[in-house]
Amino acid sequence: MSSSESESGQQGRHQEVGHKSLLQSDALYQYMLETSVYPREPECMKELREITAKHPWNIMTTSADEGQFLNMLLKLINAKNTMEIGVYTGYSLLATALALPDDGKILAMDINRENYELGLPVIEKAGVAHKIDFREGPALPVLDLLLEDEKKQGSFDFVFVDADKDNYLNYHKRLLELVKVGGVIAYDNTLWNGSVVAPPDAPLRKYVRYYRDFVLDLNRALAADPRIEICQLPVGDGVTLCRRIK
Ligand code: SAM
Ligand code: CA
Repeated sequence: MSSSESESGQQGRHQEVGHKSLLQSDALYQYMLETSVYPREPECMKELREITAKHPWNIMTTSADEGQFLNMLLKLINAKNTMEIGVYTGYSLLATALALPDDGKILAMDINRENYELGLPVIEKAGVAHKIDFREGPALPVLDLLLEDEKKQGSFDFVFVDADKDNYLNYHKRLLELVKVGGVIAYDNTLWNGSVVAPPDAPLRKYVRYYRDFVLDLNRALAADPRIEICQLPVGDGVTLCRRIK
């Protein structure tokens, strides 16, 4: 079966409840996936995406178009020393690892090792596992430890933040000292399933409602932060790029 045949079947369709697209129609998103994303998706990423699709929490995975975006962005900024907060089965991690040079590094953190290990064989087979330093546990104490080491301050080129939304502002405070001037922090899910503009009585899923205020606070804080330049993109569920300028 050709890849276009398999991808136009159910497997390649984005899920309706997966806030995978904020585009004006599902058909338009599907067009983008089938035209520009799936045909260029590395085999290993496809394999990891298919493994993840069978996992009960697959709603959490990074979409294929966002994976492609991250991979391109990392190459454009020549990232070498990076960090990821929130790994799950590793789709964005693999997109990152593939973009970095052979001696590139990713400090990857997640409270759940089991899901990371689900994707790890694919990452190993792709020959990029040596770039990854996985730490199991909450990310905040790891960041605090890093900050104690003067050499780590201002040392990261890129950070992808995709974990507990209620901590994003706590991460931001620390990450601004860890990323170098000119480096980029990318906060994921900043349009939060479109709920950022939902009226107060809108019927939102419980977790969407719970985290919405944190996302709204983050967006306001980033827009007002003079230490960064920002660019919020409607890729995936919304991703805000912050470039440290001081
Ligand atoms: N970037 C991943 C991908 O491409 O598939 C998706 C990450 S998923 C949306 C969020 C992850 O954050 C979960 O795997 C969860 O275990 C992890 N997480 C939740 N709280 C965390 C914390 N305090 N520190 C580190 N990871 C955390
Ligand atoms: Ca995400």
